Amino acid sequence: MTAFPEQPLDEAEIFSGLSGLTKDDLRADGRAFAFAYDAGEETRRVARKAFAACMGINGLDPTVYPSARRLETDVVNACLEHLRAPDGAVGSATSCGTESVLLAVKTARDHARRTRPHITEPEMLVPETGHASFHKAAHLFGVKLVPVDVDPDSFRADVADARAKLNGNTVLVVASAPGYAHGVIDPVSELAELAEGAGALCHVDGCIGGWVLPFQRELGVAQPEFDFTVDGVTSISVDLHKYAFAPKGVSILLHRRPELREAQYYACATWSAYSVVNSTLLGSKSLASLGAAWALLRHFGRSGYRDLVGSMWKATEHLCSVISEADELYTLGRPNMGLVAVACRKGDPFVLADRLTERGWHVQPTYAYSRSPAHVHLTLDPGNSARVEDFARDLVDCARNLPAPEAPPEQVVQMLSQVARSDDPDTESLFAQFGIADGQLPGARAELDRIMNALPPDAREALLVKFMSALFR
Ligand SMILES: *Cc1c(COP(=O)(O)O)cnc(C)c1O
Repeated sequence: MTAFPEQPLDEAEIFSGLSGLTKDDLRADGRAFAFAYDAGEETRRVARKAFAACMGINGLDPTVYPSARRLETDVVNACLEHLRAPDGAVGSATSCGTESVLLAVKTARDHARRTRPHITEPEMLVPETGHASFHKAAHLFGVKLVPVDVDPDSFRADVADARAKLNGNTVLVVASAPGYAHGVIDPVSELAELAEGAGALCHVDGCIGGWVLPFQRELGVAQPEFDFTVDGVTSISVDLHKYAFAPKGVSILLHRRPELREAQYYACATWSAYSVVNSTLLGSKSLASLGAAWALLRHFGRSGYRDLVGSMWKATEHLCSVISEADELYTLGRPNMGLVAVACRKGDPFVLADRLTERGWHVQPTYAYSRSPAHVHLTLDPGNSARVEDFARDLVDCARNLPAPEAPPEQVVQMLSQVARSDDPDTESLFAQFGIADGQLPGARAELDRIMNALPPDAREALLVKFMSALFR
């Protein structure tokens, strides 16, 4: 069928076409340990209804759509309270964690332009476990990213290293609460104190933990402080499309003071149509996902979320204790929430991932970077937490008699590094050689992962760009 029919199709045909398109997608069926953030069909039903109700709200102009202001203010206020912000703190809804992070970096840059105008080459300190979106922000906004070492056992940012790298150009210090890979909370108080002493801002990346950790604290789980009660923390991001279970498209960025948020905004009056003021990077934006988040906060209430967080923490503890008793496995650091990096003592983690895939589990093979070895990443959610005992049994079982990690042939690594740098390679047939067909990776992908793992990061990046480009043709 052509992509754009000449004559209208009837509705049944359209929707059977749509369900055909999505049939191979990852399902939220409790067997996915990445991507899903699955809180069950009832949650999705409520979200879907609110999403549809709010689809037509355009966040571009809250004076024309007053509901945009009310929805956003309600949800931002809930997050401010949740993260114990002081009176006068403010926030904005964004479309994803990446956008919240980009805006936190823009805020630091533009705030420094106003208050420390002598800085011409702004820098930010980011732990090497910090999210890739900080690198993206550095790339887009011209703020130099200075990586901060992490402790090789705990994977917490090394405060002494951050102190040594702080200088008169530092406009931002970043801490994760927690980092995605290892689920470990950085020493937020110490990093925030450093920032404050240097006149820099401090952003806490709570994209994945900002919603969960306050409930864990209420449940008595011991964890370091990370929110606005920590002096020196000037902004926090929290993704509602992760653990608040809203559909993709909603994150919140909070600021301690309104003048910080003003540095986040962008206005333009130098063109011939309407004068623009944008709170975020997007212009026209649907508030459907924000509306779904608004509804879910009411659907669950604090008690509903707290119960789900309790069940995820229990599952995390179970999983970690099974891993600590298994000879073959260990966790990288001690996770502060349900994000677990499982490494192998001797075996190949990519083969472990393949074996788990064969048993119907979806996990995330993760490459080595700096102090963090190759491992299998697991994100817990209420759906997979309910099956954690089965999963833990399979995990230990699959970890038996793993082959040792083998370095891929040097010629292959060389060849791919060259392809990555070349302008017009025949990527199509290359990807086919690795079993990538019709945009899907092979079920057994250990060989591919071993090669990707062995490539230097710049070659891996370039190859991924070519892969993505080949995917959408
Ligand atoms: C998910 C995540 C982000 C980015 O969020 P997206 O919604 O995927 O853009 C940033 N930081 C951390 C710690 C995350 O887990």
